[in-house]
Amino acid sequence: MTHKERVPVQTTGNNMSRYEEARSHFDWKQVEQAFSWHHTGKVNAAYEAIDRHVEAGKGNKTALIYSDAVREERYTFLQLKEKSNQFGNVLRKLGVSKGDRVFVFMPRTPELYVSVLGTIKIGAIVGPLFEAFMEAAVKDRLENSEAVALVTTPSLLERVPVDALPHLKHIILVGAVGELVEGYYSFEEEMSQASSDLDMEWVDREDPMIIHYTSGSTGKPKGVLHVHNAMIQHYQTGKWVLDLQDDDIYWCTADPGWVTGTSYGIFAPWLNGVTNVVRGGRFSPDDWYQTLEKYKVTVWYSAPTAFRMLMSAGDSVVKKYDLSSVRHVLSVGEPLNPEVVRWGLKTYGKRIHDNWWMTETGGILISNYPQMEIKPGSMGKPFPGIHAAIIDNEGNELPPYTMGNLAIRTPWPSMMRQIWKNPEKYQEYFRIPGWYVSGDSAYMDEDGYFWFQGRLDDVINTSGERVGPFEVESKLVEHHAVAEAGVIGKPDAIRGEVIKAFIALREGYEPSEELKEEIRQFVKTRLAAHAAPREIEFRDKLPKTRSGKIMRRVLKAWELGLPTGDLSTMED
Ligand code: ATP
Ligand code: MG
Repeated sequence: MTHKERVPVQTTGNNMSRYEEARSHFDWKQVEQAFSWHHTGKVNAAYEAIDRHVEAGKGNKTALIYSDAVREERYTFLQLKEKSNQFGNVLRKLGVSKGDRVFVFMPRTPELYVSVLGTIKIGAIVGPLFEAFMEAAVKDRLENSEAVALVTTPSLLERVPVDALPHLKHIILVGAVGELVEGYYSFEEEMSQASSDLDMEWVDREDPMIIHYTSGSTGKPKGVLHVHNAMIQHYQTGKWVLDLQDDDIYWCTADPGWVTGTSYGIFAPWLNGVTNVVRGGRFSPDDWYQTLEKYKVTVWYSAPTAFRMLMSAGDSVVKKYDLSSVRHVLSVGEPLNPEVVRWGLKTYGKRIHDNWWMTETGGILISNYPQMEIKPGSMGKPFPGIHAAIIDNEGNELPPYTMGNLAIRTPWPSMMRQIWKNPEKYQEYFRIPGWYVSGDSAYMDEDGYFWFQGRLDDVINTSGERVGPFEVESKLVEHHAVAEAGVIGKPDAIRGEVIKAFIALREGYEPSEELKEEIRQFVKTRLAAHAAPREIEFRDKLPKTRSGKIMRRVLKAWELGLPTGDLSTMED
């Protein structure tokens, strides 16, 4: 990885003067004062995200711009306040109350957002589920969480094994037609009868707010519980990492079924009072660029898999659209290959800002700030108020350039408070006193930038050298024929492990032995001989989670003929 390559600061007019300065003065307590709870001692994150702006005279500002193939709608903060109030009342009428779990299994539509906000307003715990989940995935999550109510659509209901879920008492259907039997309700009808005044449930900052199941990249998804207090982090990272300003038009491409789609698709933008764009439907380069152009998006938050797909789609698509409104571009979820950063600079004229966090951390912890030089391939530096380090298994901080556990000093505002019904698993993250151990492997350079290497279990030990799969993958995607790559260690009697690469080729390239050799040489000469894959296998597609992450454990299981484990989050 090159530590020399640097991309200078580009954006202007942001709120944080200089990163180091902000770090030295930072105190989370000051952030808390943005909200109304220090008067009452109680709070509600949905109130802070929506109603607060109405009270501040911004009721007529557009909060949500929604579009998909057939709908295009705008909602003001006042409308969202009233609709979420109505939904809170719908739930109350059904007897749902504080602490109950309400799940939302829905396509990305305005009703989804209203349901999430309304649930939080009555102090219930919301659980968003990705609409592509199949029956087993839905059942696991509803069973584990003991959800009492579910918001869904008639067609998705076919994937809900209602009879096998004794806790599930109320099913609220969006777009239902005809008479409904007991226990089933029409969203539209209930909403139309509900008052838009709500007796808000004021909760303690430590009261539960949302359960998110992790992406399932490394194993069975965990039910991560976050509390209302997380909003402090959502708000401040929204300001300083997303660089949100009052007149921004912000678009986060993530589905609320994943944590990015709520922390940064709901809370961060709305806590900052910003107009939030939601695009329903599936990925397509033309649709996406159209969305940026049409709504004059200024801040765009997406993921490496999307940027790689846009890169594969070619620059001629980009040229069809006017993307000049875009000021700030960000990425999360997987390592962002340096090649993608270079391509972004060349094609959009913009730096793509990588940032690192996890479902469990609730919010961004390490980031490339608008005010910082970017080193392509690095995740950036810790957020002010966050102490990140590379530690060994005893909790000793390791010197620069030493690969180890990426860990965070506890606590921080959006730290998870529970793994639902799995205290043992929760404890594992905190096994080293004073630290949260992420499970990711990384190192830090002499300037304090963090460099992701792989999941802890994915680090490859070949002939006594430790190789992070990400470094190899990133070198591979620099090759003109490679669209995506997944790298694993394969047990080997002599070398311990050998490196095997699974490669999806770009449009127009055909697999061949010569191409394999060319790619191998490419890594050998540009990275290191020991890091060049001994084996290469071409595949049409790599196995990915529905949030777009390459599933290395599945590649490994296939390779070794082992059971693949939980595949509930894998795309078709
Ligand atoms: P599971 O925990 O179920 O195996 P998951 O870890 O993929 O799935 P998420 O919480 O969605 O679930 O993802 C967090 C992980 O994603 C991080 O631990 C890290 O491995 C990876 N990740 C996120 N952002 C980045 C980034 N900027 N660079 C590298 N890796 C990242
Ligand atoms: Mg994880």
